[in-house]
Amino acid sequence: MLIEIAEKSGFCFGVERAIRLTEEAAEKYGELYTLGPLIHNKKVTDSLENKGIKIAEEISDAAGKPLVIRSHGVTEDIEEAAQAACSVCIDATCPFVKKIHNIVSEQPEDSAVIILGDKDHPEVIGIKGHAHCKAFVCADMAEINALFESGALSRDEDVALVIQTTFDRGRFLEYSQDIRENYDRVKIYDTICNATSERQKNAEELAERAALMIVVGGKSSSNTGKLAEICARHCTTVFVEDAGQLSKQLLKGLHSDSIIGITAGASTPAYTIKEVHDKMNEEIKTTIENEEDFAALLDQSFRRVYTNNRVKATVVGINKNEAVVDLGIKQTGYIPLDELTNDPNATVGDIVKIGDEIEAIVTKVDDSNGVIFLSKKKVDSALGMEKIAASKEANETLEGVVTAAVKGGVIVITNGTRVFIPASQTGVPRSGKLEDLVKKTVQFKVIEINEQRGRVVGSIRQANKEVRDAEKAKFWESIEVGQKFEGEVRSIEDYGVFVDIGAVDGLVRTSELTWNRVGHPKDIVKEGDKITVIVKSFDPEKKRVSLSAKDPDENPWTKFVADYAVDDVIKATVVSITEFGAFAQIIPGVDGLIHISQISTERVTNIASVLAVGQEVEVKIIDIDTDKSRVSLSIKALMEDAAPAEEAAEDAE
Ligand code: SF4
Repeated sequence: MLIEIAEKSGFCFGVERAIRLTEEAAEKYGELYTLGPLIHNKKVTDSLENKGIKIAEEISDAAGKPLVIRSHGVTEDIEEAAQAACSVCIDATCPFVKKIHNIVSEQPEDSAVIILGDKDHPEVIGIKGHAHCKAFVCADMAEINALFESGALSRDEDVALVIQTTFDRGRFLEYSQDIRENYDRVKIYDTICNATSERQKNAEELAERAALMIVVGGKSSSNTGKLAEICARHCTTVFVEDAGQLSKQLLKGLHSDSIIGITAGASTPAYTIKEVHDKMNEEIKTTIENEEDFAALLDQSFRRVYTNNRVKATVVGINKNEAVVDLGIKQTGYIPLDELTNDPNATVGDIVKIGDEIEAIVTKVDDSNGVIFLSKKKVDSALGMEKIAASKEANETLEGVVTAAVKGGVIVITNGTRVFIPASQTGVPRSGKLEDLVKKTVQFKVIEINEQRGRVVGSIRQANKEVRDAEKAKFWESIEVGQKFEGEVRSIEDYGVFVDIGAVDGLVRTSELTWNRVGHPKDIVKEGDKITVIVKSFDPEKKRVSLSAKDPDENPWTKFVADYAVDDVIKATVVSITEFGAFAQIIPGVDGLIHISQISTERVTNIASVLAVGQEVEVKIIDIDTDKSRVSLSIKALMEDAAPAEEAAEDAE
């Protein structure tokens, strides 16, 4: 008897992601709740509970605590309530389910939505809760027809039909034909998850060849239930939660060449599948009295390795051009370097080590020479495509290594899959060299996927832009008046200079460059200079920041106020002449105004005929306006002070 495990069994991408996010959050926050059991598998939820992850039946059970929304997703109301009540809300809704939420919520209010699925399933309840229009759940075509016949829906209104991710694809295809023929205003969105359909297809193919199918998973898992339903159409099928529910009675009626197939739902961990496999192996062993016969039969069954089989292999040798693998059979397996990876720069040793257990696809069985050729990159690529598709749905950024510069762009390998980045999306300027990116690790967004052609297109520019936008958003959230930056002078204008302070370029007006008088900003700084600046004001709407390069500790006004007072007689140097008076520098950075009326006791009409720029004059401080930092000076006051003394001297003569 041969025990064969279906290729696509166990955790799907969405479940694996939800468990990963939950475990990461548990590590980060300590105490953590999931809104309902994370997945329909008691063993897994028990093990999570042992790690301190509790189940909240209601949002109120997790009030003020971190909460995880499981991969099934929830209604819009519950999402909002969780965000309001819990300290952190980690949304582990599978990106494929999230996509259905978006489709449903985008339907106009005067239209309708039909969800094809199980009305009691949490995923379906969650999807329905995102509709802003009429929404119905139908289990089959009869229920869809009934909606129109009863008048609940009219043939003249726009209806969007979405499908529960785990719905049986065969039934869906049958219904969609009926719908297209009878209801031309119903737009069908095929939202069945690939992981589900592939698992179903895979299980069905195995069930067609098998005499007995064992379907492993939680009894409340709808996708496992569907697997059992599909398998039961082809052979005897048992639905078990774990190895403990198996018995040797199952082997009754099977022959020595019968195939026993094992498949498992999306919420079944690999170790449970292995336990079921091992238990069945054990039962077969004890059923066959003659151990030698058993070994012979087992050996015989293992010898069946065919082209396109996905197999597990152990690396037993490495050479320059290939990895040698043991498949547990007599023939030796070889994986040529170009079937190990898509990376032309990698060596065999970069990809595998002796002792590694890997999965590969049989590409050729050469019976005459007793060798089997395999491809590891095909397995990696298939898994990679799934991950890339999910990342695109979730708008996640991916990381990969640039392996080559090609015509029109570069090739990046991520998750074992080739991604083409057009030159315009690399972020390398036209004058730059794409070759400089080779062997570098880059982050990028997926912008196009053509699964049929196996082509993925990415953009480094988009990922960079997202990083920059996030930095800018953070900058505008945290900026404060008085905040200090070390910036770089980007450009110099007549009215000031623009300084790069990270997320934006701020303006330092000429008068804010230094405490001293400045003719032109070029007299003080040059492009590329690093200067310290302080935020004076900012406008997040207009994205403008006004800066000052003046050091508050060096403010000359503070020094002036400490050293000078009204009525002090001082020497000052005329620095400019205007129509209404002359400005004279008292100390660097502080000028006083000698108003035209304060120049002389005589009437002055032309200031330039009395004073000249650069001339040192004796003046009296007649006013200090500390609010406006202004000083008024007077020559006339000194003349008036001197007049009585002169008159007294003249009288004495
Ligand atoms: Fe997501 Fe598909 Fe898994 Fe459901 S079965 S959680 S939709 S990956």
